[in-house]
Amino acid sequence: MRAFEYLSPKTLEAASAAVRTAPEGARIIAGGQDLLGELKERIATPGRVVSLKAVPGLRGIREESGSLRIGALATVQEVAESPLVREKAPALAEAATSVGTPQIRALGTVGGNLCQRPRCWYYRLADFPCLKKGGGTCFAVEGDSRYHAILGGGPCHIVHPSDLAVALVALDASVEVVGAKGRRTIPIADLYALPAVDASRETTLAPDEIVAEVSVPAGARSAFRKFREKLSLDFAVVAAAVALGPKGPRVALGGVAPVPWRSREAEAALGAKPVTAESAAAAATAALAPAKPLKNNRYKVPLACAVLRRTILAAAGVADPGPPAPPATPAPTKKAGEDF
Ligand SMILES: Cc1cc2nc3c(=O)[nH]c(=O)nc-3n(C[C@H](O)[C@H](O)[C@H](O)COP(=O)(O)OP(=O)(O)OC[C@H]3O[C@@H](n4cnc5c(N)ncnc54)[C@H](O)[C@@H]3O)c2cc1C
Repeated sequence: MRAFEYLSPKTLEAASAAVRTAPEGARIIAGGQDLLGELKERIATPGRVVSLKAVPGLRGIREESGSLRIGALATVQEVAESPLVREKAPALAEAATSVGTPQIRALGTVGGNLCQRPRCWYYRLADFPCLKKGGGTCFAVEGDSRYHAILGGGPCHIVHPSDLAVALVALDASVEVVGAKGRRTIPIADLYALPAVDASRETTLAPDEIVAEVSVPAGARSAFRKFREKLSLDFAVVAAAVALGPKGPRVALGGVAPVPWRSREAEAALGAKPVTAESAAAAATAALAPAKPLKNNRYKVPLACAVLRRTILAAAGVADPGPPAPPATPAPTKKAGEDF
């Protein structure tokens, strides 16, 4: 780990200025679960680390004017256990409950979860000079792409690791950020940008911008489901969140794209009609129609389709009749003189 200067300012404005004025680069630290790993592995080598822990008012979850307001330093565990979140934004509570282990949820913060860096094994190994680290190639294209993107990939093919972000995109949340130009509020979907925009980063935040608060419209019916390889602790291989609110259905997928992936195809297929088993299956198929798997991750297409279909049904409170029957295989025809 490179030695760094540690600052703990008392306001967000001072924290932003401390990042801006760092002569050898700076990073924000919240729970530290992701950043410390990056520092130890020398994936990140800032000269300054700026803690948010001494900034008052960044914790807590409250309801205000029909929205839940969640501070950036609220922990994932606080979100998972909040009666307000469970009642008014169930997909978010379910997503938070699915994160890591109790220890990880107790330390990880909402802001850190939304801004965590990808878990791609090529990115996390200093020996691979991938596009994210300023190199010239995405090693997943020719290498092991089991856990990489099937939607929105290229030139880098990471998947975004945040479960909370998937739920928040479906719930149509927004984030308030603080930087050199003051405060601004952006829809959560605009917090993220595809690698085609800039492969070295996942968010649209300026380097000195800090997430202060997340605002979530309260009251939509919603659900979140996640498929992971290890039930005890694992990032999503595939996740889905669906909200059925006054603006119509909102559908988001996780584990499949470099950003939490909003599926307008699935939303259009669901339309304004009540959800049925048939419309859920059709929407899930529509969501995955644009998928472009890599060499080793074709399996994610039917998996995401199944997870999304179930999530749509769960959000609507419709019983799951099981997967739709596969198309009938035509009986082989026998040509004259041919034996089977
Ligand atoms: C073993 C393991 C398993 C995990 N499993 C899951 C999982 O299943 N699902 C899931 O969603 N997550 C998972 N996580 C992530 C975890 O939930 C934490 O949320 C995450 O590590 C970061 O939270 P943190 O507060 O520790 O952030 P930090 O490590 O402090 O920061 C993470 C990044 O965000 C930036 N940052 C932090 N706060 C802010 C802010 N307010 N504004 C702007 N930038 C900020 C930092 O500069 C840094 O780049 C897992 C982590 C581990 C270590």
